[in-house]
Amino acid sequence: MVAVTLSRLVKSYGDTPILKGIDFEARDGEFVVFVGPSGCGKSTILRAIAGLEPPDSGDILFDGRRVNDVSSADRRIGMVFQSYALYPHMTVAENMTMSMRLAGAARADRRRRAEEVARLLQITPLLDRKPAALSGGQRQRVAIGRALVREPSVFLFDEPLSNLDAALRGSMRVSIAELHQQIATTMIYVTHDQTEAMTMADRIVILDAGRIVQVGAPMELYSRPVNRFVAGFLGSPTMNFIELQGADGQGLSTRAGARIASPQSGMGMAPASVGVRPEHLTVATDGEIAGQVTIAEQLGGETLVHVRTDDGLLVSKMPGGFAVRPGETVRLRVDGTMAHVFDATGNAVHSN
Ligand code: ADP
Repeated sequence: MVAVTLSRLVKSYGDTPILKGIDFEARDGEFVVFVGPSGCGKSTILRAIAGLEPPDSGDILFDGRRVNDVSSADRRIGMVFQSYALYPHMTVAENMTMSMRLAGAARADRRRRAEEVARLLQITPLLDRKPAALSGGQRQRVAIGRALVREPSVFLFDEPLSNLDAALRGSMRVSIAELHQQIATTMIYVTHDQTEAMTMADRIVILDAGRIVQVGAPMELYSRPVNRFVAGFLGSPTMNFIELQGADGQGLSTRAGARIASPQSGMGMAPASVGVRPEHLTVATDGEIAGQVTIAEQLGGETLVHVRTDDGLLVSKMPGGFAVRPGETVRLRVDGTMAHVFDATGNAVHSN
């Protein structure tokens, strides 16, 4: 287990800057998720930590010791990728302990270690199968097992669940989070999937175009995004943004003239937009914003009501079975205490 420090990491490919000065420390035993849109530099950071891709400048430290010049093999990294790359002609146990065999470990020791790791990942019955006889989720567990066998001081995950279907992604999220609780190894995980970040991370690092935008515990970022990018990135369905024409002591005025009571309206800044999460926008007869329902998505436990208004298309999250028909005129009530106000540059003026 190690703390991983990234200090002023810079990396370009040709003339294109990819990492523009990354400063961050993953604490010993922490589960950190780097999240951001495709191409923002997540994998490049992971490859730099792994020693697969040297940064142009900046330092990488494990427990305070600079490892820039330490080979990848000597960094004691366990890496898990999107593609499992298992050897088809080897059993699960053989795949997992390949590194031990290369290091000359005895057969009995390899088997014992494979059994230990299999118990942890709940794949004991699969140990003597070949990869062809495994599901995608089982193969990914084996790939994690292969990394685990080496007793890494830090685990690096690069979009490991992207190839799995939605149900499997859900169960693998839980498995990886449970694994972290059991072994408490430092884990650094990159994904473009905000759900994975929200559900697994001790801390999330949000990246945009090679820079860190915000770092914090999942609910901290969800509740207090520093700007519209973070606000819109976390949460599903995504936050509603409503453009404003101004504010006075009593509330905010939308472009289309609706009035929203907000404790943040009198702060002297010129608010340009307000963000409201679907769970803070309710279909209610006394709502501030009128519109027409375009569609109501019945998801079972909740209903997503899509409403076309003069302030744009807005989505409200209502309880499961909420009865509303397409074409119906409704009003939406904004919970002003939970609204996020942004200035013209998209920075949060003050968020709840
Ligand atoms: P992410 O993991 O966030 O999707 P990456 O770190 O893989 O992003 O890549 C960041 C950017 O760097 C992308 O625009 C990608 O095309 C570019 N890139 C990555 N690897 C190379 C490479 N070996 N040569 C040139 N460009 C690369």
